[in-house]
Amino acid sequence: MNKIKAPVEPFRIKTVERIKPIDRRERENVLKQAGYNVFNIPAEKVFIDLLTDSGTSAMSDNQWSGLLIGDESYAGARNYFHLEAAVKEIFCFKHVIPTHQGRAAERILFEALVKKGDFVPNNIHFDTTRANVEVRGARAVDLVIDDAYDPDSIHPFKGNMDVDKLKKFIEKKGVKKIPLVMMTITNNSGGGQPVSIKNIKEVSQVCKQHKIPLFFDACRFAENAYFVKKREKGYEKKSILEIAQEMFSYGQGATMSAKKDALVNIGGFVTVDDDLLAEKLKNLLILSEGFPTYGGLAGRDLEAIARGLEEVLEEDYLEYRVNQVAYLGQLLDEAGVPVFKPVGGHAVYLLADRFLPHIPRHQYPGWALTVALYREAGIRAVEIGGVMFARKDEKTGQEIFPRLELVRLAIPRRVYTSAHLDYVAEAIIDLYRNREKVRGLRIVRESRYLRHFTVRMEEV
Ligand SMILES: *Cc1c(COP(=O)(O)O)cnc(C)c1O
Repeated sequence: MNKIKAPVEPFRIKTVERIKPIDRRERENVLKQAGYNVFNIPAEKVFIDLLTDSGTSAMSDNQWSGLLIGDESYAGARNYFHLEAAVKEIFCFKHVIPTHQGRAAERILFEALVKKGDFVPNNIHFDTTRANVEVRGARAVDLVIDDAYDPDSIHPFKGNMDVDKLKKFIEKKGVKKIPLVMMTITNNSGGGQPVSIKNIKEVSQVCKQHKIPLFFDACRFAENAYFVKKREKGYEKKSILEIAQEMFSYGQGATMSAKKDALVNIGGFVTVDDDLLAEKLKNLLILSEGFPTYGGLAGRDLEAIARGLEEVLEEDYLEYRVNQVAYLGQLLDEAGVPVFKPVGGHAVYLLADRFLPHIPRHQYPGWALTVALYREAGIRAVEIGGVMFARKDEKTGQEIFPRLELVRLAIPRRVYTSAHLDYVAEAIIDLYRNREKVRGLRIVRESRYLRHFTVRMEEV
């Protein structure tokens, strides 16, 4: 890998938002009050917030000025037509249906297509996708290549689906039980790793052969297209738009959370080719989201999404974006800090069990690392490990831990400068040198579902 220099931001800053470091004593108090759960910390008490890249983007002057031409008519607002044109240019499907977030797009799509007893394969389902499949009484199945789970494999397209696994799965379960196949680009739950066009093509051939529609979970399609341009033979000279158009040409539709690669703070859409399916989706949309030309958003939101979709295709932006994340990963890696490799598109993942080998899994090393990061540097990150994903054995009540114990440092788009990332890297390297001081945790109170959001802890 070539050495990456601190990327120069391809924008200048016109509006600033104050962030304040608070002193260590106060951080200690905040932690105590939050039950050692960073989800319970008020955002104003955080210095650098790397909890998520979702809905945290900074909008451009062009997007903000678009808000002023929001047409708030109930039906047929002009901004809908701008959005429709922007989505069609990239995705090339016939129907564009806005929704308030990605998960709303998923919900109506699965309500229209998926029934009890069905299976939906994906490389790795994102949490909301999995939940929206399973609430239908169907099973969400992950068929990513094995490399995806190996933090040391430097496969360039670790988000790829395992085509053999897919073929065997279809043979085993039968076409009738598989209403669609999904592919998540980039593969968020697998570390923001890209999927190659070659893999998309192969998966689409298998789907076509069995007449199963292929849909994309397209939240980070532009980051995926940029990786294709950099890593896949034959795409070096293609534009991001051309690559995106080719990716989507192999499928029949897509769901999208605009909170990622549309560079806005709220919104989403579903886009499909099939007329009958589009009719169904619009009927479901009207029930719970809104009229088909606004889908639960204001006209001004639609305009901001339309403009964001154009900006995200700009190559200097994507180069800066992907390099910024890689730059942080490189600083940490060079200092010996264990990170998941290669670094994905939107986040750096720390390998918490290697970072804190003295803390056993049942004392939650990933969680302990998020507590330490806040305590030492006011940085907020998220555990993706034992607290979030352990299952309990039904008989013994013993926790069964997930394979990986990770801490995700998600980088919001256009929000932090390279200097902020230098600060983050220094703090983590410092913490790594003093890692034996970090203590494990025990759970004081937890809820049955999605316990990470509300769990309260104490240090052991
Ligand atoms: C964020 C995300 C979603 C859900 O979108 P929301 O806008 O948060 O509802 C679905 N899939 C992937 C891959 C995501 O990253």
